[in-house]
This record gives sequence, structure tokens and C-alpha cells, in this order.
Amino acid sequence: MSARLLLATANKKKLVELQRILDQALGAERIALVGLGDFPDYPDVPETGLTFGENALIKAREGAKRTGLPTVADDSGIAVDALNGMPGVFSARWSGGHGNDGANLELVLAQISDVGDEHRGGAFVCAAALVLPNGREHLVEGKQRGTILRARRGEGGFGYDPIFLGEGQTRTNAELSPAEKDAISHRGKAFRELAKVIAKELPR
Ligand code: IMP
Repeated sequence: MSARLLLATANKKKLVELQRILDQALGAERIALVGLGDFPDYPDVPETGLTFGENALIKAREGAKRTGLPTVADDSGIAVDALNGMPGVFSARWSGGHGNDGANLELVLAQISDVGDEHRGGAFVCAAALVLPNGREHLVEGKQRGTILRARRGEGGFGYDPIFLGEGQTRTNAELSPAEKDAISHRGKAFRELAKVIAKELPR
């Protein structure tokens, strides 16, 4: 029998990604993942934290409280060295409105346009939390370091992928296949780390 686990997101791509990672790490059908789409009256939970970890915990606690299911939530973004770690938790709304990927990316490029190549480092960061109905909590973090380019390259991915060249890579994250990106990305790393915790906390 599969154990039910809620991923506190309405983003179907994240559901598919975590299910794929859990199946690979723990064996197919070990965990049955459900998303917020299965809970029609689920409210919008404000992400009021100032760190990725706080926001992941806020969302996971809310999910466990409202559904009674063990709940995973993640929060991610890009931290640019020359901007002191910003956009950080404001990555999705850096240019004002929520989720305007093109405008967010252009604003970061403009803000660091006169920053020299040696200072254009940054990282994608993902915090992933697991909260159990009994109150136990776990938090893990995954990072992908790299360089912020001066112009976009590639059509894949989303968000800041076209301007991010990962360490040791010749292609931007927007030029990688989904599987190639999973293997090195902040979210792939965090989810694989969390899979180990899930295996222990949700025994067969
Ligand atoms: P969320 O954690 O899915 O809410 O992501 C917040 C924001 O961080 C997104 O809207 C993107 O701007 C940025 N972001 C997070 N992960 C990635 C990624 O893998 N590639 C590019 N941008 C990302």
C-alpha cells in the first residue's frame, strides 16, 4: 500500500517532479503524492517568511494542520551575490507583480549590468520541509551555484533559468533537458535529500 503525502502546491509540474524523484529514490508506488488541487477550498497561504526555510515550513505546517496528511512544501528562488542574496524570497515578485518571469529577469540584469564578470556569482536555492500530523518537522536545503550571464540564452526551464550558467556547465539551465536540470538543480537536490527523510518517517 502507498503512503499518502501532500505536496502543498497547486503547481502540477512540481507534483510530477517530486513524484518522479520519490519513485526513483524509494521505488514506484511507495508514496502516493497529492496536491492542493485535491482540496478545492484550500486557502491562499501568505508566504510571510524572510528565508526560504521559514516559507517552506509555513506552507508545510498549514497543509498538515488543514488536511491531517504528512505534508511537504518547498520554497525557492535565486540569490545573487552582487545583490546581497536578493531577490531571494522575493524572486517571484522582484519586479512588482507576482510571477512575471521576463520582467523579473530583465530587472536583475539591469541591476547588475555594470558588475564585473568576477562578481557575477549567485545560486538557486530550494528549501523543502516535511511536517507530520504529530508535529514532527524536517527541513532540508539544496543549492546550485553558478554565474549570472549578461543576456538570456535558451528557451527551456522558467524564471531565471535563461541567465543562469551553473558551475561546471557550458549550457544555461534553460538549455538543459528537464532530466539534466533535475540532476544538478537546487530543487532536485533538496527533494532527493527529503526523500531519505520521507522513507524514515513514513515506513511501509
Ligand atoms: P517558487 O518556490 O516555485 O515559488 O519559486 C519562486 C521563484 O523563484 C520563481 O518564480 C522563479 O522566479 C524563481 N525560481 C525558483 N526555482 C527556479 C528555477 O529552477 N529556475 C528559475 N527560476 C526559479
